[in-house]
Amino acid sequence: MPPLVLTTWSFGPVANEPASAILRAGGAAIDACEAGAIAVENDPSINSVGVGGLPDADGHVSLDGCIMTDPDQCGSVAFIRRFANPVSIARRVMEKTIHVMLVGEGAEQFALREGFTPRDLSTPYARAEWDKWRADPRTLERARYRGWIPPLNVEERARSHDTVSILALDKRHRLAGVCSTSGMAFKVPGRVGDSPIIGHGLYVDQEAGAAAATGNGELVMGTCTSFLAVELMRSGATPLQAAEQSLQRIIDRFELLPDHQVAIIVLAPVKPDGSWAGWASAAIKPGFHHTITDDRGTRIEPPTHVLAP
Ligand code: ASP
Repeated sequence: MPPLVLTTWSFGPVANEPASAILRAGGAAIDACEAGAIAVENDPSINSVGVGGLPDADGHVSLDGCIMTDPDQCGSVAFIRRFANPVSIARRVMEKTIHVMLVGEGAEQFALREGFTPRDLSTPYARAEWDKWRADPRTLERARYRGWIPPLNVEERARSHDTVSILALDKRHRLAGVCSTSGMAFKVPGRVGDSPIIGHGLYVDQEAGAAAATGNGELVMGTCTSFLAVELMRSGATPLQAAEQSLQRIIDRFELLPDHQVAIIVLAPVKPDGSWAGWASAAIKPGFHHTITDDRGTRIEPPTHVLAP
């Protein structure tokens, strides 16, 4: 039962610890989600979010993030290269502007005006990984015809992204969600994935529920995965049915490659009559874990359902 916080991937406890402390103290779901994102973004050992994220093909890290509590309460930033906490900047966009999304130089100028402090996002580990990737002769060969050169083997490609998506439900039954990511490792500079796009990486509607995706952003973007999951719940689906059906849409509409993976976390709202349909997660393939913190403590678990085991 609420309050609870549900986070993508097994680094989830880094987010869930500060987030659940806020919820236990009676704080708002949106504050819990932001605090969770900041903790992961500031952890240099997590190489797919914030400081220490694996860089773009040009060696510079770029970050994307968003925050949402309702269709008229959402904010987003993309292609942030000088600030560690895109979710907090996205929150300012939501609260202080009439816009939803700012990108690149404009977003960074906005962050500066809002008092955020610029910093170097790279770490020795991330720089060494980029050097290794760049030095591989196959990288150059691929660059000639593909433009984007992913990490060179399937296992590395599957490990080379992992957005932190956090959904929370607080004591007053308010829902919120955030996504924060450095995107796909060694991506074409300027590429933006699903994570900061409302309805793709994240969607929250207080009446229908919340959903957040992680994995290959291009698959999510083609099918509006998070929006789809929330709309399925609005039409009566359980969180598990919504998770399964939104991922099934990807399986049906794309020719999946060996390293393709998408996972989703889904959270139902508490209805006015006090009933609650709970939460679920699902993944296209094995390998994904969610982290849940509720009245039974914090657990890192495999998804409720894997569609193609
Ligand atoms: N969805 C993110 C992106 O495509 C990466 C991830 O979640 O693994 O940028």
